[in-house]
Order: sequence, then C-alpha cells, then structure tokens
Amino acid sequence: MKTKTLKKNKVNVVTLGCSKNIFDSEVMMAQLKANKFDVEHEAKQDDSEIVIINTCGFIDNAKQESIDTILRYADAKKEGQVDKVYVTGCLSERYKSDLETEIPEVDAYFGTRELPRLLKTLKADYKHELVGERLLTTPAHFAYFKIAEGCDRPCSFCAIPLMRGKHVSTPIEDLVQQAKGLAAKGVKELMLIAQDLTYYGLDIYKKRSLAELIDRLADVEGIEWIRLHYAFPTGFPMDVLDVMKARENVCNYLDMPLQHGSTRMLKAMRRGTTREKTEALIDNIRNIVPDIAIRTTLISGYPGETEADFQEMYDWVEKSKFERLGIFTYSHEENTHAFNFKDDVPEKLKRERADAIMELQSGISYNLNQKHIGQTRKVLFDKVEGDYFIGRTEFDSPEVDNEVLVKKMDTYVRIGDFSDILITSADHYDLYGEVK
Ligand code: SF4
Repeated sequence: MKTKTLKKNKVNVVTLGCSKNIFDSEVMMAQLKANKFDVEHEAKQDDSEIVIINTCGFIDNAKQESIDTILRYADAKKEGQVDKVYVTGCLSERYKSDLETEIPEVDAYFGTRELPRLLKTLKADYKHELVGERLLTTPAHFAYFKIAEGCDRPCSFCAIPLMRGKHVSTPIEDLVQQAKGLAAKGVKELMLIAQDLTYYGLDIYKKRSLAELIDRLADVEGIEWIRLHYAFPTGFPMDVLDVMKARENVCNYLDMPLQHGSTRMLKAMRRGTTREKTEALIDNIRNIVPDIAIRTTLISGYPGETEADFQEMYDWVEKSKFERLGIFTYSHEENTHAFNFKDDVPEKLKRERADAIMELQSGISYNLNQKHIGQTRKVLFDKVEGDYFIGRTEFDSPEVDNEVLVKKMDTYVRIGDFSDILITSADHYDLYGEVK
C-alpha cells in the first residue's frame, strides 16, 4: 500500500549512538551520493523511498532507542510511508538473527563492516577511490576524525569489541590525506576518535604512534584545532603531551574515560590500573600541560560495588576536580565478562550514585569556570540559539562540554569562525562573554 509519492532513489540516513557511528554514516552517504542516490541525513521530510538506520548496541538505553527507531520505520513501511528499510551498525552486528526474527519488516540487516554488501543490495558499487571521503553531517567547520576501528582491550563491562572487532589503525598517510581534503572543504577542527585512541599504531607500526600522527595532522594547513577523544589510561603515551605543548593547534584537551575511582572496582573491571596509578597519571599530565581540560566518564553500580567503593570514587572525584565529567549507570551486557557476575546493585541505587556524582561535579564545574572570568578566550562559533551566538573554547568539545554565549544584540560573529572573547561571567556549564 503506497499512500504518498516517495522520491525515487532518495535515501534518508538515520544515525544513532556515538561519533564513530556518525563517521560511518558520513562515509556511507558519500558512497551513496557517488552512486547517484539523492541522500540526506535525518531528513525532515518523510519522502525518502529508502531509509537506512545506523544503530547503536552499546548499553540498555541506547539499544532501546535503536529498537524504537527501527520499529518506527517498520510501521512507516507498513503504512506505505517508505519503500525500503535497511538496518546497519552495532545493534545489527550484535543481534542480527534476533532482529530478523523480531522485526521481519526490515528489508535487510548489515553488520558494522558490511558497507560493500549494503551498497550491493541497493544495486550500487563500493567505490574504493572514495576511501576516507565523507559527506559531513556536522557543521562544516568541524569533523569527527576516526583514526582506528575496533578494540583489543579486555574491559569486563564492554560489548564494543563484540560489535567492532579487533583494533585496526588507519595508516598515517591516508589520515593526512583525509585531513587535507577536509581542510580544503573548510573544516577547521578535527575531533580525533577511536575506541582506544592511545593504541594507535601498535598494530601497523608495532609502536604507539599517536604523537607522530598528531604532529603530522598539525602540519595540515587550515586545521586550527585538533582534539583528542577516548584515550585509555594504561600505557598512556606521554609523548602526546609534548606535541600538545609544542603545537599551537593541538587543543589542551584530553578525553580519557576512567570508569571508576576504586582500585577494587578497577580490578574487577579489568582496566589494568589502580586509583593510585590513575592519580599519578593525571598529576603527571597536569604537570606537563598545566591548563589542560580533562574530560572523563565513569560507571556507577558495577556488580559488587559497595557503599565503600562508591565513597572512594566520590572522594576521588572531589579531589581530582576534572574539568568535564559524565557518568553512566552500569548496563548488564550479554557476552561480556561482567555478565558472569550478578547485577546486584539495584537500578535505583545505581541512579542515586550517578546523580550524587553529577551533583558534586556541577559544583566543581562552577568553581573551575569562575577562573575564566576576565580572561580572553579564542572561541569557535557553532550556532545561533535564541538571543545568543553559541561557541566553544579549546577546552570544550561539541555536544558534551561547556558553551560560550555571546549576546546577538551586542555584536556580530560569523558561525564557523574564531573570535577572541572576553569572558565576563560563568555558571555551572556555560560561560558568557563579549567580543574583545
Ligand atoms: S577500551 Fe573502551 S571500547 Fe575498548 S573494551 Fe575498554 S571500554 Fe570498551
């Protein structure tokens, strides 16, 4: 049953989950466009003949969001609102046979490394000459920059290696070419991403090569900010900090998920480190790059987490004063090592512990933000919202960190450009300022 005219060869790509999925969708869209499809990302109009959903299979909430999205389009297909529905990404990689049984309306399911087969199903070719090419879905001035796929780490709670496979680094020369291509299109900021950024090069160069890569990317004309996401603490390559200090266009910013602040929990999580070693690493990093902004991510309610473990993490967060922090409640994931243990911390308590940490962090963030008042910061403007131009300093990654708000009526700044901003006030997660 077809109730409305659908645009022939029009593909709507819907992306769920993390920045790595955004990257994969952008690569897929470039391939589709090169095959003469009219492709759009999260199209506002529901007039596409084909929908491709790039799913997330990481933890409960994310999985539920992916399933709800698939069901929405499966229903739309039944109502003739769309012709073909295809599903790819992590949830599909992890639960393909279940999904085929549960939601048979979907025309086909693909894994995380099956773009060529997906294209073939749409009677399109995988164009090797396009490797690294993307249709950006982010504002034109910044781009997520995936330097490797997969992960070799044994973290007990994590299902990512099940969905993304072993760590595979992309060669430096290819990445430098990609960066030059992006810079030529006006990209000024690269967010370096991987499952484990610091593992870069160990497979193809038999040595940690993140510092060398960053140094090469910093040479690319037009790239003004290089930002590091998803660093792993154990074996952290300290030479990365030397490059961060030496190169103006490498942000003094480091995202390093640390997961917990109790040594007993870190051991249970198979993180290969202790609270003491983590503290020593953070102190070292702060000594080498004093004004660095460190972002971290934690988990509350891991199996066996006692009140004492939680209190140890709470005190550690209070003492460490991370500039940016997020926390997830533990999600009991099949086929992970932790799935062998009883998920014994009640959901309510997991939530309470996560909220307590965020309450603490909100105060820490407020106090740290006061230090920016009276300072002039280089700000990259991303968007306009209401009465404000909204931007970020080098200490802020898009979507997850602080923002800088500049009143529209007082001045004019160009979106996608940098401006020097005098910070005049600050609250928990936002800074306010005026053009210097
Ligand atoms: S390093 Fe990250 S992606 Fe890899 S197993 Fe650990 S938590 Fe998962």
